[in-house]
Amino acid sequence: MSDETPICSAKGCRAAAVWVLAWNNPKLHTPDRRKTWLACEEHREHLSQFLGVRGFLKDVVALSEWEARAGE
Ligand SMILES: [Zn+2]
Repeated sequence: MSDETPICSAKGCRAAAVWVLAWNNPKLHTPDRRKTWLACEEHREHLSQFLGVRGFLKDVVALSEWEARAGE
């Protein structure tokens, strides 16, 4: 089985990711660039706030929807 389960990006968390946080640091990235963090249900809020207070957060999308978009 080579089925890869995406794991939450929060430090020390091994839970399966449910959300994709798309973000951009304008000091490092061009405006259309998107970095992504993965988040489980529990850490979505925490990671969103971390990015949000820095003004980096662009989008929060369910992982299934994100993958559907990527497959287009
Ligand atoms: Zn987590």
